[in-house]
Amino acid sequence: MTILTPPQHVRLDQRAVDELRTTLHGELIRADDDGYEQHRQVWNGSIDRHPALIVRCAGVADVRSAVRFARMHGLLVAVRGGGHSFPGFSVCDGGMVIDLSLMKAIKVDREARTVHVQAGVLLGELDRETQRLGLAVTTGIVTHTGVAGLTLGGGLGWIMRKHGLTIDNLLAVDLITADGEFVKASAIHNADLFWGVRGGGGNFGIVTEFEFRVHPLGPEVFAGPIFWPMEDAAKVLRFYRDWIADCPDELMTIVVQKRTPALPVVPAELVGRRMIAVSACYAGPVEAGAQALRPLKSFGKPLLDLCGPKPYLVHQSMFDPSFPHGWWYYVRSCDVAELNDDLIDIVAEHGRRIVSPITGMALWQMGGAVARIGENDTAFHGRSAGFTLNINGNSQTADGFDAERDWARAYWSALSPYHTSVYVNFLMDEGQERISKAYGTTKYDQLKILKRKYDPDNFFRLNQNIKPA
Ligand SMILES: Cc1cc2nc3c(=O)[nH]c(=O)nc-3n(C[C@H](O)[C@H](O)[C@H](O)COP(=O)(O)OP(=O)(O)OC[C@H]3O[C@@H](n4cnc5c(N)ncnc54)[C@H](O)[C@@H]3O)c2cc1C
Repeated sequence: MTILTPPQHVRLDQRAVDELRTTLHGELIRADDDGYEQHRQVWNGSIDRHPALIVRCAGVADVRSAVRFARMHGLLVAVRGGGHSFPGFSVCDGGMVIDLSLMKAIKVDREARTVHVQAGVLLGELDRETQRLGLAVTTGIVTHTGVAGLTLGGGLGWIMRKHGLTIDNLLAVDLITADGEFVKASAIHNADLFWGVRGGGGNFGIVTEFEFRVHPLGPEVFAGPIFWPMEDAAKVLRFYRDWIADCPDELMTIVVQKRTPALPVVPAELVGRRMIAVSACYAGPVEAGAQALRPLKSFGKPLLDLCGPKPYLVHQSMFDPSFPHGWWYYVRSCDVAELNDDLIDIVAEHGRRIVSPITGMALWQMGGAVARIGENDTAFHGRSAGFTLNINGNSQTADGFDAERDWARAYWSALSPYHTSVYVNFLMDEGQERISKAYGTTKYDQLKILKRKYDPDNFFRLNQNIKPA
């Protein structure tokens, strides 16, 4: 018997599929199996794809078997860590999903100040284990994001200005190549590959384990958002720009434009109101954080101030309720060099046009330790960016999605005179020109040469794809 896998029409031999199943420690799921609907879902509800096979790998051997099977049968492969790719690259129609979400081992070495993390671990799971010992590595700002995809693109987070991007703390990876071979990459093993995986995404193979350096942090930090009415956005941003001009590396901020969500900490009269918030995290002693944030806290008339001492883990989960699984998400992103007056006015104006309570914009303060690593030291591009903007047009279902997407596009287009680079992990499926923008032309060319060495047939192509030179 053969199975026809739309839309590529690859014929799969039933016996071969059964054989694959017997070699796995994890699970093999097909369309008529229990759990298929659950496991084909990704975080972004606007993505609806039907893979022929989902291999839920329990370890390195399963990943190898899956890669070899897919290669032998000419299957398109999607690789899934946390499933949070904005454009849904971790699921495909008709091919195979190599799902790493069962691979959850985390081992912290307190003496060596390192942590080994398997590829299915989510940010919150990693933070919990490291914080148990008062340690942390830079991770992102929503706990249910995957460590794997975030790291391979770079990794922006609350402590990056002090401790660098996630990749700046990466010491080594274990990886399965397109040939199904196991390799290590670090500063001394396959150094070219190690350069490439630090920003080059999933283009070079499937990482099964990461090793990071960790740093003492918390467990309490001075952190949280301060809100002003959107009408004051231009004033707040001008003050903010001048205030952060010479702030310490310990301080990291994200400006958010949104309608205030209905959360227990938000007074009822403020729910739904358009606001601009500056959210902060001080990666150092709580008292020093309080002092550093005093000028911001006393600027103008904040409507709500939730910035104070709190466990780092609590701060890390602050944005979780804003990004649940299954809503429809669209993002446009760009880096900008600085917040000039014109740009500030564009931001203020588009903030006033927010309609949906779940749509918003986040402006990330870059610099600090991120900018002190050499631009050519890793594949990540954009270290000199002043800010990264992330414009999210979201809706709960298909209803109203087009309007939110149009708002995000219009906002992004209005900023186009100031676009510099773009963070690869904040791209949708936007084509080669935008991927080239994410790496810069020189680095993009270097990456294509590296791709030719490690994946000449472009087996790993469902990603922000770097085609082999
Ligand atoms: C709610 C939300 C919050 C976010 N916050 C941040 C943030 O704070 N900082 C930040 O830097 N980014 C952030 N991002 C962007 C995020 O880094 C990317 O979406 C990232 O790709 C998610 O990784 P994942 O493992 O969850 O995704 P997946 O969808 O599983 O994978 C994404 C991509 O990585 C590849 N990939 C995944 N695992 C592996 C692996 N083990 N080996 C090889 N390739 C692999 C996949 O093939 C796919 O192309 C956020 C995204 C979302 C949706």
